[in-house]
Amino acid sequence: METIFCNGCGIQIQTTDPEKLGYAPSSSLNRDTILCQRCFRLKHYNEIQDISMSDEDFMQLVSSISEQEGLVVYIIDIFDVSGSFIPGINRIVGNHPIILVGNKVDLLPKSVNKQKLIQWLRSQAKEAGIKTEDVFLISSKKGFGMDELAASMEAHRKNKNIYIVGTTNVGKSTFINRLIQRSTGDKDVITTSYFPGTTLGFIKIPLDDASAIIDTPGIINKQQIVHYLSEEDLKIITPKKEIKPKVYQLNSQQTLFFGGLARIDFLKGERQSFVCYFSNDLNIHRTKLEKADELYENHVTKLLSPPNELTLKQLPPLEERTFRIGEEKTDIVFPGLGWVSLSGSALTVRVFSPKGVPAIIRKSII
Ligand code: GDP
Repeated sequence: METIFCNGCGIQIQTTDPEKLGYAPSSSLNRDTILCQRCFRLKHYNEIQDISMSDEDFMQLVSSISEQEGLVVYIIDIFDVSGSFIPGINRIVGNHPIILVGNKVDLLPKSVNKQKLIQWLRSQAKEAGIKTEDVFLISSKKGFGMDELAASMEAHRKNKNIYIVGTTNVGKSTFINRLIQRSTGDKDVITTSYFPGTTLGFIKIPLDDASAIIDTPGIINKQQIVHYLSEEDLKIITPKKEIKPKVYQLNSQQTLFFGGLARIDFLKGERQSFVCYFSNDLNIHRTKLEKADELYENHVTKLLSPPNELTLKQLPPLEERTFRIGEEKTDIVFPGLGWVSLSGSALTVRVFSPKGVPAIIRKSII
């Protein structure tokens, strides 16, 4: 096949893998204007489509962003903050101003103190060496917080481009589709490649004659649990609406299973409550510590599910870590799954999560 480039984003066209950048069906190649499927959908349906690439490939794009002036909008999933972390984000951001956006706020219980959560995100960013101009909590799905964010983006971009970056599944496409609705109405939204002759796969949504929103491909962070789950299991663990916390009063020597994907053994400490924030559809199972191993052996994929059989084949084995937790209110976080809030006396827990997606503890966000 001769080398053909997309007239929209400039990526090299391929006709073999619909999941990868640059795909176009071969039947479309005899048109005058050749567009990859992603640009085609954007042009004709005003809809951006998910596209992803590995972090290694993404690093090649970094220099092209960091050489351009503009504002970086970094989207994370507040339900999976560590899984939304982009390795090398500092190199991408360089000296660009950055707005940090925590998406999916609609999932949090109303009792969450939003200001405290914003403070927490700000401090997380600072710890990672990222200087933020502003931090917002939004819901791209419901449209919460979009007006304030849009105003801040307008103020900070100083008539330059806006680069939207994020790992896969944080809701980047949903967010951009909202922006498209706001800024363009029904106009054709893509123009010719912003970086002619390159194979970057950036998409440009014009803001005015001189500047645009640039959608960058979603980066795959291998620490995201979504990469290990079957479609069916992903549906179960992904919260669809506001999380209803489930409270367990536990004595030491008791265990909680979160499906068969994560587990907490309460080793030592006074009786206290474990407040669990997970998808309402995920089964939580309480048992005696002495029975826990046997229960897992015999009932994973059945009583303890997800994982189903398909997920189990690709899921790394559970790995344990022990935490000694003091008096301060603390969350045990299972990235991408949810968290357990502890607000009592000191205790020791042993936690299990799939290898590569380690559980962490943080100061409680609620
Ligand atoms: P992308 O891979 O970053 O482009 O993410 P998508 O836009 O495809 O969204 C990934 C998943 O998160 C989809 O199931 C969306 O419906 C969901 N999602 C996106 N934004 C929100 C949001 O604000 N709230 C909730 N609850 N779900 C969202």
